[in-house]
Amino acid sequence: MSSTRVLVLNSGSSSVKYQLIDMRDGSRLAAGLVERIGEQTSRLIHTHVADGDTREQNGPIADHEAALKAVAAELGRDGLGLDSPELAAIGHRVVHGGMFFTEPTLVDENVLTEIERLIPVAPLHNPANLTGIRTARALRPDLPQVAVFDTAFHTTMPESAARYAIDPKIADRYRVRRYGFHGTSHAYVSRETARLLGKDPSEVNVIVLHLGNGASASAVEGGRCVDTSMGLTPLEGLVMGTRSGDLDPAVIFHLERVGGMSTDEIDTFLNKRSGLFGLCGDNDMREIRRRVDEGDERARLAFDIYIHRLKKYIGAYYAVLGRVDAVAFTAGVGENSAPVREAAVAGLEGLGLAVDGELNAVRGDEARLISPADARVAVAVVPTDEEMEIATQTYALVNGSGNLT
Ligand code: AMP
Repeated sequence: MSSTRVLVLNSGSSSVKYQLIDMRDGSRLAAGLVERIGEQTSRLIHTHVADGDTREQNGPIADHEAALKAVAAELGRDGLGLDSPELAAIGHRVVHGGMFFTEPTLVDENVLTEIERLIPVAPLHNPANLTGIRTARALRPDLPQVAVFDTAFHTTMPESAARYAIDPKIADRYRVRRYGFHGTSHAYVSRETARLLGKDPSEVNVIVLHLGNGASASAVEGGRCVDTSMGLTPLEGLVMGTRSGDLDPAVIFHLERVGGMSTDEIDTFLNKRSGLFGLCGDNDMREIRRRVDEGDERARLAFDIYIHRLKKYIGAYYAVLGRVDAVAFTAGVGENSAPVREAAVAGLEGLGLAVDGELNAVRGDEARLISPADARVAVAVVPTDEEMEIATQTYALVNGSGNLT
């Protein structure tokens, strides 16, 4: 029996998300989520796609090992267990691959050691990713496990974009540089945008705006990333749900010296209590728009700051690319918020950018154009699919080809 299935695992600090995908046609066989791992109120939700059956388990799940065993048991109940000969590999999302990992990588002990060495630059993410890989390896030691890195797509950035303007000796000693994140999404969306335009990725320049709870922009030239808005960590760049994005680094010294805040307090403040949430008390764009429509001033200011930053990045990446064929909106806000898309492009007609009001208002799950037919630059909504991208890259590595196209 040929092995054509890939299990994608995304292990977060207190959650595991998973999908089992059949690479023959890209169909989902099962999907689910374990959340609140380590608490009394853990929950596993599992969907077996073929019969539309969704099962839920509530009660404590102590750690990632227990979580993965519970997932394996649920898959087993559907006849899709980890022992199935049809399972070709497990693909793991790993947030930080540093400069070392530029491609999906077959996991061995050396790879695990290197991911571990990157923990200081990704303290929130890499430990959980590692635990997920180690547990999956223990469950199926003979099965290929592939690490797919969020940073990999951005390793093509030129040094002029990847370096901060600080002494390179210090930067290299402490691995301080701009890595970028959401790479699997930027890779997938830039390719799908080219497909929507009926072109090969090597022929098009795309600005990808991944606007979710975390948000990042990238400039993709002929399929290669040449700049992105996140940096050493996912804090740099756009205004996000709870992260500030760009600010003068001196704000940190100021908060320390004048505000009496500790380094850890500032870290939490800028990552968890800033952005849209810090500005107006809400980080969900639906709620913010509802408040804006009711005339709420704080929500209006938060929205305006969000849009102002977005516009600055569109302009900056226009300049970086020189010629832009498309601007693609993706992720929770980008795919769903017509007001954000409209406002982000408003006034940029001089750059050839415009949104057609009627097309922009249409909702849907498919990649689509929202610019007027005669627009110089295509504006598109392109739903992201990070799991499919991880599965495709994983399958390509273990099978020699993973193209679903
Ligand atoms: P993500 O991180 O990609 O899952 O995106 C999550 C964010 O998408 C949420 O915090 C919301 O702000 C936003 N979102 C989801 N659905 C909508 C919608 N219908 N309209 C506006 N924003 C939405």
